[in-house]
Amino acid sequence: MSKYIVEKFKDIEAYTPGEQPKLGEFIKLNTNESPFAPPLESSENLLEKVGNLNIYNDTNCVALTKEFAKYHDVQPENVIFGNGSDEILAFCFLAFCDLDHGIVYPEITYGFYKSLTGLYSVQAEKIPLNEDFTITISDYYNKNKTVLIANPNAPTGITLSPDDIEKIVQANPNNVVIIDEAYMGFGGESAVHLTKEYENLVITGTFSKSRNLAGARLGYAIANKQLISDLNNIRCSYNPYNVNSTTQYLGLLSIQNDEYYKKCTGEIANVREKFVDELDSLGFATLPSKANFIFTKHESLTGEQVYTKLREHKILVRYFSDEKTKNHVRISIGTAEQMNSIITALKKILEV
Ligand SMILES: *Cc1c(COP(=O)(O)O)cnc(C)c1O
Repeated sequence: MSKYIVEKFKDIEAYTPGEQPKLGEFIKLNTNESPFAPPLESSENLLEKVGNLNIYNDTNCVALTKEFAKYHDVQPENVIFGNGSDEILAFCFLAFCDLDHGIVYPEITYGFYKSLTGLYSVQAEKIPLNEDFTITISDYYNKNKTVLIANPNAPTGITLSPDDIEKIVQANPNNVVIIDEAYMGFGGESAVHLTKEYENLVITGTFSKSRNLAGARLGYAIANKQLISDLNNIRCSYNPYNVNSTTQYLGLLSIQNDEYYKKCTGEIANVREKFVDELDSLGFATLPSKANFIFTKHESLTGEQVYTKLREHKILVRYFSDEKTKNHVRISIGTAEQMNSIITALKKILEV
């Protein structure tokens, strides 16, 4: 730390991303990326298709927005794009939270929310999950704070239904409810359609997980046009050229290749179900996941032990050392072949 850092950031707790080792060194099942490539028919011509990089990118992502809005059956003015949905979440914090108007989210959830509360000095109320890691929706009624819920939740993978979301939205007419659908597309049911009916609902999402584009950094929010206009004002005060031209092109390509997208996400969901069955037979108890990862615990090993032993077998997974999660590991769902490798490694570790 330098002596120049401002007082309020001296103790900031930055988000710790999952390890990104050299390609090929490990089987990487630690950061919920897709194991599949984006739909690039001919990546050699990519730069030609993107157009002139010497001129600024389209600040409003017009072509992408039009196609994406059509895909979700909303209007272009209901959509905003960001440099990953992490940036969109930051815009939401800036627009809808401050010192007086705090935020509420589940105690166990995506770790980046906490980093944002530190960065933007927002008071957070953290609501414990039930013993079985489920959310009781009435805990989020009448909060007088911005409500933020990841659906499916991370790292549990447990999902709320659109009916549940609607009840939370109805019970908070004076607050914004943000539903982070980063892991939608692997079996959960999106609540995007509710944004047409409710003026206080923001759905955020990303191309990082289900659309195989983590490295391109593309996230979005869908909401009624006043909320999107607020978010755009924040965006243009912060970084008006936040989504680069290459990423806008890749996003468009992804939407246009819907069959490929469905093939990839469908494959992940199938591999997940088979993997969970196999874990079962090895003495693991796994939470019911509708995401591209599972959260599981072994009857005789801690999360850290599973992590360490798998690492020796050149497989990376993630564990969280907090009291309530320390017995679990989170394992991303990769290809069928990768999941066979992890089962083989686990059999050796458990000597079965
Ligand atoms: C991965 C993730 C995000 C952020 O994804 P980006 O890559 O920034 O688009 C947001 N929310 C949750 C719950 C995530 O797991």
